[in-house]
Amino acid sequence: HHTIQELKEEVSLRMEAEARTNESLKKERDLSELKTKFLSLVSHEFKTPLSGILTSATLAGKYTQTEQQEKREKHLGTIKNKVKYLDNILNDFLSIERLETGKVTYKFSQFPLSKVINEVVYDANMLLKDGQRINYPKNIDDYVIEFDEKILELVLSNLINNAIKYSAEHTTIDLQVDYKDSILTVKIIDQGRGIPEKEQHFIFKRYFRAENALLDQGTGIGLNIVKSHLENLGGSITFTSKENKGSTFIVTVPITNTQK
Ligand code: ADP
Repeated sequence: HHTIQELKEEVSLRMEAEARTNESLKKERDLSELKTKFLSLVSHEFKTPLSGILTSATLAGKYTQTEQQEKREKHLGTIKNKVKYLDNILNDFLSIERLETGKVTYKFSQFPLSKVINEVVYDANMLLKDGQRINYPKNIDDYVIEFDEKILELVLSNLINNAIKYSAEHTTIDLQVDYKDSILTVKIIDQGRGIPEKEQHFIFKRYFRAENALLDQGTGIGLNIVKSHLENLGGSITFTSKENKGSTFIVTVPITNTQK
């Protein structure tokens, strides 16, 4: 036989359990809604470059004559750019998954800083708009650091690609490198459209894109991943930005300075 008190407790326990079920149902619905939104975002993001690749491939296939070589090469260049762009997005997605499942592993090695800078700038050059240029240090030739090379590449290419994307033609992007003690600081300075002050607070949130960025392609994932990786590795990322003037992103990473 149950006492009234026991029955009351039982009822309240059941109600709690039911509330939990409702909550988890709601969570599941939210999650599935988020997944649908995400899939639509991704499909959209892939569609435009893919149709560009298809067009360029078709045209490149038509320009078979020797005197059409220039045109053919232009289209092949476009294809390469867009494939690279899609590859970057996929790498971002893979990064998210690994970060979330805790499966991310880092690989440290020694490499010259100039190697990464040169590679990142070389790739970014293909994305430059008319009259845009990248200013970067060329006097760090024999500076060897110990860090995760792929991650440094991912960080710098994300930031430089953003600087290009969110700046107009005929602007300069400055890459400044400074190493002191065991901290490497890289600044990426652009003269672009900047981030509206009231949105600056959200800029590292996943999928967030500022109002003035929505007409450009993007997923709002890059900065979020960059920040996670840097924080996992004891580094940091900060920025200052002024609308219609430009932005400066500042990255620090702890490095083992092996040679100067
Ligand atoms: P994506 O560029 O794919 O939208 P990111 O995570 O790289 O995603 O950046 C998030 C948002 O931050 C961008 O959508 C844009 O609004 C803003 N942003 C990032 N870098 C810059 C920059 N250099 N200048 C202006 N806005 C920027």
